[in-house]
Amino acid sequence: MAWRSSGRTQVELINNLCNNGIITNQRVKNAMLAVDRSFFSPRNPYNDSPQYIGSNVTISAPHMHAYALEALSDKLVEGAKVLDVGSGSGYLTACMAVMVGDSGKVIGVEHIDELVKKSIESIKNWNENALFSEKIKIIGIGDGRQGNDENGPYDAIHVGAAAPDIPKTLVDQLALNGRMVLPVGAEGGNQEFVQIDKLMDGKIESKKLMGVMYVPLTDKTKQLNK
Ligand code: SAH
Repeated sequence: MAWRSSGRTQVELINNLCNNGIITNQRVKNAMLAVDRSFFSPRNPYNDSPQYIGSNVTISAPHMHAYALEALSDKLVEGAKVLDVGSGSGYLTACMAVMVGDSGKVIGVEHIDELVKKSIESIKNWNENALFSEKIKIIGIGDGRQGNDENGPYDAIHVGAAAPDIPKTLVDQLALNGRMVLPVGAEGGNQEFVQIDKLMDGKIESKKLMGVMYVPLTDKTKQLNK
């Protein structure tokens, strides 16, 4: 049912994601209802498919945003600190900011300046207070695989592009009891959406959630010269 949730409006899209069993958590539903995709995806915002946003990348499909929020929902609680690697359109960054409440903080890191600018503009149009209060911060970065050490450690990390292997630096930036979700696998090959948990004693547990298809976590020049 993953691709069958398109709607004519944000409300219809979210209701379809719920009816198809993709959104089960009320907090995830509320967050996705609170962030209208039309601010972030100029093309077909309510289609349940990825849409081109420039710089050779796409905003992920709504069902993938929903799966990511569902997997992280236990960690996206009031006051949590979150890192969104490859924040792209900024849509998921904004949803996570809703879930972590007034005292939480979400850092988005993105290596394409054009997307950094566009996403800041989109977030401003959606809810400018989220930026002024610094609840959301989008940082232009050379390479998101390095994460953002100075604002860590993070209770939740989302990676929006597929890494060939799990980046150790990002695991290091997870807080104890923190969780990361990321697509792992080769570009255009078999990729898995993986959940990594750092337990209270620092042990790492990982599990595969589902097969997925994401753009690669890559070098800026490689991405722009496709
Ligand atoms: N969650 C975002 C995903 C966008 S696609 C959304 O739904 O809008 C993946 C994003 O990862 C792109 O914006 C791409 O520019 C970015 N990206 C790819 N490799 C990166 C890297 N090494 N460092 C930082 N960002 C990267």
